[in-house]
Amino acid sequence: MVLNNLKRKYMTRNDCYTVGRKIKPKGIMVHSTATPGVMAADWFSRWNKSYKSREINRQVCVHAFLDDKEIWQYLPWNHRGWHAGGKANNTHIGFEICEPGGFSYSGGATMKGYDVKKNEAYFRAAWNNAVNLCVHFCKKYGLTEKDIICHSEGNKKGIASNHADVMHWFPKHGENMDTFRAAVKKELNKKAKPTTSPNKYYRVQVGAFSKKSNAEKMLKKVKTKGFDGIIKYY
Ligand SMILES: [Zn+2]
Repeated sequence: MVLNNLKRKYMTRNDCYTVGRKIKPKGIMVHSTATPGVMAADWFSRWNKSYKSREINRQVCVHAFLDDKEIWQYLPWNHRGWHAGGKANNTHIGFEICEPGGFSYSGGATMKGYDVKKNEAYFRAAWNNAVNLCVHFCKKYGLTEKDIICHSEGNKKGIASNHADVMHWFPKHGENMDTFRAAVKKELNKKAKPTTSPNKYYRVQVGAFSKKSNAEKMLKKVKTKGFDGIIKYY
């Protein structure tokens, strides 16, 4: 699968990047930003900063952000990210799904004034980008949908901090992490259908002859008209 909306710009000022630790990705952790209306490209200037130099107030970095249109990769996929607040950082690629604007959080993980109907199209597009990105990771690192968890599931497993994402959001649109994994599985099970195969051609046949001499005559005729041809015996 080609992720033609995947863009890359590493957060080289972020301490997570400069620390430079690598991981062997064994899983994927899905997050959402809890920051209404800030889209994937906007996070670069927000987080490409050094905590050590006090440019940012926390140590945080993820591999990618995505919204309804774009996927922005901000760390190499095998770089150890700072997204889980727990051991999952050593094993999981983490990405954030950006949340649409037009609502607010008033402490905790309750979306206040979230208009499900208005946000359905955004949600579907972002969901599809998230599914596609996970399919990309699964293929790249030999993972399956079973290796995908969200931040809140990571917390239940004891490998991530106590955050509610993405289960404070997905159910508003009738989804959850099981339906998300099922959507990834469905994509993974799709047989790769190459649109063109190097061994298949459209052939133009101008005749079929039992006598070789007749075939040669036809080929000569074709060639006098300026076309090329070959004789094949079946
Ligand atoms: Zn999270």
